[in-house]
Amino acid sequence: MSEKDHAPDYDEQKQSLQEKILEDSPRLGLDDTFKFGCHPGVSCFNRCCHDVNIFLSPYDVLRLKNRLGMTSSEFLEKYAILPVQKDMKTPVVVLRMNDDETNSCQFLTEEGCGVYSDRPWPCRMYPLGMAAQKDTPDGWGGEKFYFLLQEEVCKGFDEDKEWTVREWLDNQGIYEYDRWGDGYKELTLNEFFEDEDSALSPEKMHMLFTACYDLDKFREFVFESTLLQRFEIDEEFVEAMRTDDEELLRFGYLWLQFSLFGEKTMKMKPDVAEAYKGSLDKRSVFGTESGNKAPEKDKS
Ligand code: SF4
Ligand code: SF4
Repeated sequence: MSEKDHAPDYDEQKQSLQEKILEDSPRLGLDDTFKFGCHPGVSCFNRCCHDVNIFLSPYDVLRLKNRLGMTSSEFLEKYAILPVQKDMKTPVVVLRMNDDETNSCQFLTEEGCGVYSDRPWPCRMYPLGMAAQKDTPDGWGGEKFYFLLQEEVCKGFDEDKEWTVREWLDNQGIYEYDRWGDGYKELTLNEFFEDEDSALSPEKMHMLFTACYDLDKFREFVFESTLLQRFEIDEEFVEAMRTDDEELLRFGYLWLQFSLFGEKTMKMKPDVAEAYKGSLDKRSVFGTESGNKAPEKDKS
């Protein structure tokens, strides 16, 4: 779950939000309605773009760094905070606010959001939040549901415009973001993490972060290592990955499913698979000896 929110501890923040949802937020389905309007005429215009924790997805970073004409590394350096917390199971990337009096968003302008057509998922979703059944194990029958996040400062709820949830999601261009978000969730909600004691090694955590968030660095790794020579990959797909970040992210998701969790999302070339079987303890087929090792499971 990811929302525009204000608390400093990210785990506690998510926990308290989930409890709040359970207690007092009506659950909305796609055809339920709500009244809301946000435009330069509202008295609170731009007020919500200060001092907020906005969790960025891999696709948020992809869209923003391309919008700004930066590499992923440059974007992460300038616009992101990467908090490291004890027991963190997957990477967390948060939009960095300005270091000014109100901690305004770096993309805020007098006219509104300066990256509007590429704004992150939480900024599109507001005033809706989304939760999965998994977050609320109390008998909810659907896979996911929506709820209203009513920030005190927000006067948008006084407007007359009525939306169904479906109309709002469509209007905000959410579906494309959700498609990539679902791919990322398949990684971060992998059953591997269900065991409380399971944790990725620092090297694998770094691999997950790089393939999802630092795409330009991941591209260097893909094309400058022997990775591509080891797998049966369609040539058109390989060519597309050279320049198309979405294709590269798609490959990253597949490769991570394979290399972190042993899913059969990629096929090793027969001779490599044979060498792999014969030398499991001596060599890595995933790059460096210390880092990118394959899981101890035959995936060929
Ligand atoms: S990205 Fe845009 S909408 Fe989101 S907080 Fe920043 S200025 Fe506001
Ligand atoms: S506080 Fe609400 S109505 Fe005001 S600018 Fe933000 S989202 Fe729009």
